[in-house]
Amino acid sequence: SSSTTPITATMFPGDGIGPEIAESVKQVFTTAGVPINWEEHYVSTEIDPRTQSFLTWESLESVRRNKVGLKGPMATPIGKGHRSLNLTLRKELNLYANVRPCYSLPGYKTRYDDVNLITIRENTEGEYSGLEHQVVRGVVESLKIITRQASLRVAEYAFHYAKTHGRERVSAIHKANIMQKTDGLFLKCCREVAEKYPEITYEEVVIDNCCMMLVKNPALFDVLVMPNLYGDIISDLCAGLVGGLGLTPSCNIGEDGVALAEAVHGSAPDIAGKNLANPTALLLSGVMMLRHLKLNEQAEQIHSAIINTIAEGKYRTADLGGTSTTTEFTKAICDHL
Ligand code: NAD
Repeated sequence: SSSTTPITATMFPGDGIGPEIAESVKQVFTTAGVPINWEEHYVSTEIDPRTQSFLTWESLESVRRNKVGLKGPMATPIGKGHRSLNLTLRKELNLYANVRPCYSLPGYKTRYDDVNLITIRENTEGEYSGLEHQVVRGVVESLKIITRQASLRVAEYAFHYAKTHGRERVSAIHKANIMQKTDGLFLKCCREVAEKYPEITYEEVVIDNCCMMLVKNPALFDVLVMPNLYGDIISDLCAGLVGGLGLTPSCNIGEDGVALAEAVHGSAPDIAGKNLANPTALLLSGVMMLRHLKLNEQAEQIHSAIINTIAEGKYRTADLGGTSTTTEFTKAICDHL
């Protein structure tokens, strides 16, 4: 209910179109009467020696303290001597799972109108462990790390998600026929967790076959769980199935119950500062954050207002073929609330 004491959440407006779409979220949340106080943190213009990054220690502490946040896109400044912003967040907050719902938006026509799936990507190891070196001239090596601990953790998250969100099936995506040890261990961990969830159907799908099935009939899938690299690729493929970057939300899950929701897209420098950005992806990320906080009533209300505004077709941003500005589209959503 909305009568509870306000919850404090961290907000990173981010760079480029970030501040414009963050403003849209703040307006919509205020109009819907969401009991949230935003603690805003901007990316610094100087490197913080404590984090070796343009993200300050205080902003990381804010997420650790609040355990919940919403993040706009961040453009990592070019230059040496610092860590990428997204990598800093992932490592410092131990964001081990990336969750992306992909569903067709009613009223916005794409190739498919019955997509309703969730990709869950292991976010800390696999091919992205950063362990690459040259063996001898002309030969390089990259290490793919799979651990029992990280595989069990993401599998547990996937099955728990399926159970608590009324989903029926979890598909583990792999290439264990070739990557026998690494993907083999990943699958073994998924099977172990599957046994604890007899009410959820479990299946294993080889990644190449998965791609073919996704583009032919995405309705075949429910919840997909996979190692880092496969998740990176498949989650973008799925975003493409339902209308692209301007619409796709995500949420990063960390240890100690941290949840940091973020739009999938970047800072869109080509349209920044022009009042043209589509705030839907960040708004839907905000809706994921509300569901995480069990503020389901407001989540549904805002979700419906977004869907209805897009379906009505009167106010749409340029990326969806319309002529509305960010502020006009935002106002239309507020009017639907
Ligand atoms: P991008 O997502 O910023 O832009 C790709 C295209 O999609 C552009 O034409 C852009 O105008 C359009 N677009 C993206 N979001 C939109 C929206 N909400 N509404 C309307 N149009 C939208 O990708 P890019 O150009 O490759 O990257 C730009 C910067 O963003 C880079 O510095 C990159 O490092 C950063 N980036 C950050 C994140 C993140 O913070 N998670 C993710 C991707 C890229």
